Amino acid sequence: MSSLEKVQSIDMIKYFRLFVAIIVVTAVFYLGFEISQTPNAYSVLLGEEQVGIIVEEVLAEDLLKEAKLCIEEDLGGTIDICSELTVEPIRASQKEIIAKEELIFKLKNQISYDINAYSIKVDGVEQAVLINNNDAQAVLEKIKAKYIEEGIKAELISFVEDVKVEKKLVKSLDDIISVDEGVTLLTKSSEAQKIYTIEEGDSLWGVSERYNLTVEDILKANPDLEEEGILQIGQEISLNIPKPILSVMTKEEFKYTEPIEKPVRYEKDDTQYKTYIKVVEPGEEGEKEITAYKVRINGYEEGTEIISEKVLKEPKESVVIVGTKTPPPKSATGSFRMPTSGRLTSTFGQRWGRFHAGIDLAGPVGTPIYAADGGTVVEAGWHGGYGYLVRINHGNGFETYYAHLSKVYVSVGQKVAKGEQIAAMGSTGNSTGSHLHFEIRLNGEAKNPYNYLK
Ligand SMILES: [Zn+2]
Repeated sequence: MSSLEKVQSIDMIKYFRLFVAIIVVTAVFYLGFEISQTPNAYSVLLGEEQVGIIVEEVLAEDLLKEAKLCIEEDLGGTIDICSELTVEPIRASQKEIIAKEELIFKLKNQISYDINAYSIKVDGVEQAVLINNNDAQAVLEKIKAKYIEEGIKAELISFVEDVKVEKKLVKSLDDIISVDEGVTLLTKSSEAQKIYTIEEGDSLWGVSERYNLTVEDILKANPDLEEEGILQIGQEISLNIPKPILSVMTKEEFKYTEPIEKPVRYEKDDTQYKTYIKVVEPGEEGEKEITAYKVRINGYEEGTEIISEKVLKEPKESVVIVGTKTPPPKSATGSFRMPTSGRLTSTFGQRWGRFHAGIDLAGPVGTPIYAADGGTVVEAGWHGGYGYLVRINHGNGFETYYAHLSKVYVSVGQKVAKGEQIAAMGSTGNSTGSHLHFEIRLNGEAKNPYNYLK
């Protein structure tokens, strides 16, 4: 080997070493770079924003599910998530990485969601929003429960208003109230005016008792009313009755009996005047048992609702005979009839040296006496020697006298028709036996009745 050859081979070795060194360094650098670029964690993003980095490989939907459960557990209701969640592999340093529990906690606070709340609508207007349907129903049940008492069955308690519970998405818990708040809100009263009509037997005190008010309340609502004043039947007064948003109607069953009117059958009698009426069969009222509800609104009596009626006793028909003949006018016809049936015992004119101003007709005590013509009774009572006397003015200058009566059926001022019974025969006054003393006078002068009687 020449020295030149030696030099050359030494150089070759040097070059080779350098080359290897370069390769090694390059490889080490390259490997190091590769390692620094390989993802070692997962970045969780809400939209564009990073929530945190964890090492566990998870699906976005599983994270959302977990966060949703935590939120729902806290709320006591259900939610719909509105945020979009993505999970990206990432290269991160140890100090950037957080525990999964911490990530869930952060998600819980940052995630946006709608709460599936329940709204109570009264007559279509939202009045309260509860976290879930159970709470909404609980509010309604608690309000009704206030009125459950003896005699009132739960199924007979209802709301006066149309009440609906509807699902409603809300953004914030601030819009949601508790069951107790709901009860308070829906039963809070504003005052409503009720017009009450005074009935027979009412007193201010009685009305105030009935409506759970004080007499002062009523007087305040009715400035015209005086505490000691007299209430008129039919008079209207204002009552300030509390009116909550939600009113509860209760129905309490009760029973009572009531008479059944007896039917009346009318039988016509064409031999009697239209003024004639005679009960030939009195009949009898029946009786029925009524089952009804006492209806109250918010505890205030509202009325009665009849459910059923049961006949306890059938009524008995009453029979009444009514006349159909047109009665004569209660004024003079211009002619006279015999005032009674009886035996003529004394005529008109001179008798035992005395003037007899009428005729005497004898019959048993109680024989009916009829008006000889229509007119107005101007005297009906005791008149000295006449005894009981009826005097009728016929309005045409004539007057008739009926004396010694046992009974008088008419009174002064009464108008009578020709032939109408006015008295009964007797023997009162200057009389020795039952008879009618009958006179006809024209302008005060006694006339012989036989000249006028027909
Ligand atoms: Zn006489």
